[in-house]
Amino acid sequence: MKISFHGAAGEVTGSCILIETEKAKFLVDCGMFQGSKFASEENLADFKFKPEEINFLILTHAHADHCGRLPKLYKDGFRGKIYSTSATRDLAEIILIDSAKIIAEEAKEHGIMPLFETNDVYDVMTCFWPVNYDEDFKITPEISIKLRDAGHILGSASIECAITENGQQKKIVFSGDIGNPPAPIVRDPESIDGADLVVVESTYGGRTHEPGEERVQKLRQVIMKSIGEGGNLLIPVFALERSQELIYELNYLSESRQIPKVPVFMDGPLAIEAIEIYKKYTNLFDEESRERIKSGDDIFNFTGLTYTRTVAQSKEINNVPSPKVILAGGGMINGGRMIHHLKRNLSDERNHLLFISYQAQGTLGRRLLEGAKKVYINNEEFAVHAQVSAIGAYSSHADQPKLMHWLSQIKQPIPGKILLDHGEKECLLALQQGIKKELKINSEIVEYGKFYEV
Ligand SMILES: [Zn+2]
Repeated sequence: MKISFHGAAGEVTGSCILIETEKAKFLVDCGMFQGSKFASEENLADFKFKPEEINFLILTHAHADHCGRLPKLYKDGFRGKIYSTSATRDLAEIILIDSAKIIAEEAKEHGIMPLFETNDVYDVMTCFWPVNYDEDFKITPEISIKLRDAGHILGSASIECAITENGQQKKIVFSGDIGNPPAPIVRDPESIDGADLVVVESTYGGRTHEPGEERVQKLRQVIMKSIGEGGNLLIPVFALERSQELIYELNYLSESRQIPKVPVFMDGPLAIEAIEIYKKYTNLFDEESRERIKSGDDIFNFTGLTYTRTVAQSKEINNVPSPKVILAGGGMINGGRMIHHLKRNLSDERNHLLFISYQAQGTLGRRLLEGAKKVYINNEEFAVHAQVSAIGAYSSHADQPKLMHWLSQIKQPIPGKILLDHGEKECLLALQQGIKKELKINSEIVEYGKFYEV
């Protein structure tokens, strides 16, 4: 069989892996390339394979860099089934509908054809077929899969794929994105017994995160400082996982009386929609979260918390006196309602801006995190007097020690080879070094479009 990579090769977005066996062609993920614009040339370009020839697709999780090109795939001729957990299906639907809206606005602004439209999203959603974690699932007589909890976001999975060719069975494992335990809500990543070949993500393959246990106390310190100074605390959040984790931890701090009562706003319709989906799948939560729910705690609600869905509700936040805490998207402040809150709060030294997630090069978030003293928002200049800080431990990606640990548990058999994708150059090289030194397994950094024989 042959494996080729049509995204996330030497970069972190656009995940799309093509597997060609004797009798079938299938994909693992079909993600969006995420640069400065959705309508980038990479997203608009034709696939290097024929979508109508793809028999089926397996989706690891609902982040746009893994599912974002699914509607385009359907539009271009794909009619196979898409296998994923039910939670991934539900989250992918709201993510793709939201993407379609943003794409429509950008296409109008730039006078170009949209990558896909809402109708394409509804069409591709009919292809989904649910698969439970840890269940042996036969797709064809020669190909069966088992989804393992990857502990990254709700519903996320690593894929164990058993393929028989010429009477010989080979096991290929696709890591998907691996979580960063211990994390609130999601379970720890499940271990994999064995594999002939592993394809592993490398997002933080060259980093070591600060210990996760300390993050909630760091969060508490920032909140206390902000309240003590009578200012507003702004936290840019991604709609999936980070928003839910933060509400979960604020609920804990509030109900255990570690922070005083203060108005908290979750200002983002997509994050709020995602919370409704999370509530459907409490059976997938980790033990601690399930225990808290069992004891009668509504983990996504506490005194002082307000969910603001509409623009009018969002504007009302301005009239609430300080101190207050505002959670809003986008996670890198490259759009979303956080922009409006920043404009009102950046120039006051009593206010705080707290980053809890990765800020990509070129984003407003990155400039602020790096200490810019003035920034331009919608061509208007703003002086930065607000206090800026970051907590790295909220990352939802495993760091190098955790990726190495996940790989080291694969023993029966030990992989003959490891392919590294989904990472920037320095992280890929660092993880490759680690694998060579500690695991003594042959590994290769994948290249876009190149074929790997298995
Ligand atoms: Zn992800």
